[in-house]
Amino acid sequence: MEHDLYDLAILGCGPAGLSAAINATIRNKKVVVIGSEVCSPPMHKAQKIDNYLGLPDISGSELLDKFMQHAGQRGIEIINNKATSINEWEGLFNILVGEEIIASRTIVIATGVPYRPTLPREEHFLGKGLGYCATCDGPIYKGKDVIIIGHSTEAEGEANFMAEICKQVYYLPLYKAIENLDPSIIILNGKPAGIVGEEFVLGLQLKDGSTIDTEGLFILGGETAPDRLIPGLEIKNNHIAVNRQQETNLPGIYAAGDCTGGPYQVAKSVGEGQVAGLNASKYASRHRG
Ligand SMILES: Cc1cc2nc3c(=O)[nH]c(=O)nc-3n(C[C@H](O)[C@H](O)[C@H](O)COP(=O)(O)OP(=O)(O)OC[C@H]3O[C@@H](n4cnc5c(N)ncnc54)[C@H](O)[C@@H]3O)c2cc1C
Repeated sequence: MEHDLYDLAILGCGPAGLSAAINATIRNKKVVVIGSEVCSPPMHKAQKIDNYLGLPDISGSELLDKFMQHAGQRGIEIINNKATSINEWEGLFNILVGEEIIASRTIVIATGVPYRPTLPREEHFLGKGLGYCATCDGPIYKGKDVIIIGHSTEAEGEANFMAEICKQVYYLPLYKAIENLDPSIIILNGKPAGIVGEEFVLGLQLKDGSTIDTEGLFILGGETAPDRLIPGLEIKNNHIAVNRQQETNLPGIYAAGDCTGGPYQVAKSVGEGQVAGLNASKYASRHRG
């Protein structure tokens, strides 16, 4: 599917992302929001939110419904998927979403609480046998053995793609029901404990002490740390570093909500989303070709 060039691409459809989107559309900007089907998993879990001004005694899912209705009234386009990588090319950002590329003048990151690694020492092995995007790095492992740790059924499509090009794919699901996995893939049972290797990934160790040799390890279908989506993004104390304009260290990229730090609250996310949306709109206006 062909997409036009957007002024703002917003990653995350929780309160921060929707607030950025609503404010940018009020500024007449062309906006796309990318996020999960349940737009804010934490709000959805909150039985009662009692500290959102003007709407006391409301459940998280009711408040989220109101936010979604507001976004719907403004005709905001929401794509239910995940961004898996972002590249900048001549002042425009190209975002990989599933198999589509979305181009935008600016980005607002509103992806919620920071990424928690699945395994110890992930940082050390990134690019040395460990990857988070099979579509991006898969060809490096053509004809080799790889292990894929899948956090959700989302990872199965990427595992099936790897099965077409790799010698052998092993799949370790961290969820209950596998839906659609290529029959050539060997399913591993157990819990992952650590990565075997000094400089490069040589294998995966399981909690029962056994190890499986591999040349490549992918962790898919879970959260993606923002600095892995966007190389060079500054992180401070596990959060995206921003100033009071919600600008990150990278021109044209803004961040808002839980991903920038505590307090992890709806009102703070909505406020930061507004500032990010307005400033990204100004940036997009200044950079129209
Ligand atoms: C049990 C519970 C109770 C709570 N109670 C309260 C309360 O009483 N009051 C209060 O103010 N707050 C409460 N909170 C906190 C509140 O829900 C969060 O602070 C708020 O949801 C944060 O909003 P956000 O937009 O930053 O992120 P989120 O709401 O987490 O939204 C993040 C979005 O980013 C998407 N995303 C992630 N990665 C990607 C990617 N790579 N590409 C595209 N999209 C991506 C997700 O799918 C999601 O749509 C509670 C939280 C919980 C869990």
